[in-house]
Order: sequence, then C-alpha cells, then structure tokens
Amino acid sequence: MLTDTYKHKGMRKGLVKKLMEKGIKDEKVLKAIECVPRHFFFENAFLEHAYQDKAFPIGEGQTISQPFTVAFQTELLMVNPGDKVLEIGTGSGYQCCVLNELGARVYTIEYNKNLYAGAKAFLPKIGYNAVFRHGDGSQGWPLYAPYDKILVTAGAPGIPAKLIEQLQINGILVIPVGDTEQQRMLRITKISEKQVYSEEFDYFRFVPLLGKFGWNE
Ligand code: SAM
Repeated sequence: MLTDTYKHKGMRKGLVKKLMEKGIKDEKVLKAIECVPRHFFFENAFLEHAYQDKAFPIGEGQTISQPFTVAFQTELLMVNPGDKVLEIGTGSGYQCCVLNELGARVYTIEYNKNLYAGAKAFLPKIGYNAVFRHGDGSQGWPLYAPYDKILVTAGAPGIPAKLIEQLQINGILVIPVGDTEQQRMLRITKISEKQVYSEEFDYFRFVPLLGKFGWNE
C-alpha cells in the first residue's frame, strides 16, 4: 500500500537538507522535492534507498535519477507555474511529479515501452499527471510545440536542433551533452528564431539518450 508516514516526511526533510548542503538554493525546487514521496517509486525491499542521494535501478536497464541531479536540472529550468514543459526520458515518472509540484503542464516522452506504460498508469494513482507518449524524444514532440521549457534526462551526444526549434522564444532547454561516460550540463536559452545563449555547468553521468539524434542502439 502507498502510505506517506511522518517517518517518510522526516526522511524527505533530511534529503532536502543534504541537497541544500550540496548547493541547491531554489526554495520552490526544494519544496517540490519535499512534497513528492520518492519512496512510492521503490519496491518495499528497497525502501531505505529512497531518500539517499543516489540514482537507483528502475528495471529495463534504466534508473531513477539521483535527487541532486533532479534538483540541479529543475533549478536550471526555472519553471514558472503554468509553463508547458517537455520532458525527454519519463523513466519512473519521479521528475515529472517534481515538475507538477512546480505548477508545470508536463508533456513527457519515454523510449522504453514498459517504462512508458508503467509511468502512465502509476502517476495518476498518486495524484500527478502529464501527457505521456511512447517514442523517440530526441526528435522532440512537434504536436504540442512550442514549449516554454524542455528537459532532457538522458545523456545526449549533441544538441538536437529539433529541440531548439520546438522552444518558445525565451524558452529554456536543459540537456546533458557529452560522451557515454560523462556529460556536461548545458542550459540553452532561445533568444530569437536564429540565436541562442548557452551556459555550461558541472559534469554528470546519465544513461544514454537513444534514438535518431541520440546514440544508436
Ligand atoms: N526522468 C526520469 C525519472 O524521473 O525517473 C529518469 C530518466 S532516466 C535517467 C533516462 C530515461 O530516458 C530512461 O528511462 C530512458 O529509457 C529514456 N530515454 C533514452 N533515450 C530516449 C529517447 N530518445 N526518447 C525518450 N526517452 C529516452
């Protein structure tokens, strides 16, 4: 059964404290992480891992991202309530819940069919929602473009031009770019139809972005 006890809430507060110590400052992001029961995404046997700051396997060879990574990417995305956000790499759906807590309208794409089906069925059960799609997010999702924000939660070999195309002017793309070992976190702001402003942040290690503009399978 899915229960969120005082013990879980206390563990989440502890996690938020750790994230603050690691440099996450945005109060709204910290609050969102404090609200989402991350243990709902874990089997009973692994509950003690839910509030540790680490990535964890979710099956299909994929992971639920480390809370610090979720917080870091979400902070860079600067989500405003009502923003239309495209997430590439639904995975467990946890990041999607954090975006929901910030008031985002989330469109999320997952390449792996089982993970897509799992998140689509599970999120409404725990009070979160999104528009879900099974497909190749390296090409974006033209149907609902333009987006205020695009978040890529898998490591890309480069910046897919289609993602910039599908951003609103002043829209923001957060994407880890590099090789399969490590990727640099980039924040790309679309200044005009022809101009972007790029910022570089720390290195991370993500599972690879697959698909047409990702790594070949
Ligand atoms: N955001 C997820 C969460 O909160 O659990 C974590 C995502 S996991 C680190 C990366 C996900 O990206 C994996 O589930 C993987 O299957 C997915 N992925 C990889 N390439 C993709 C693509 N081209 N389109 C959509 N999803 C992709």
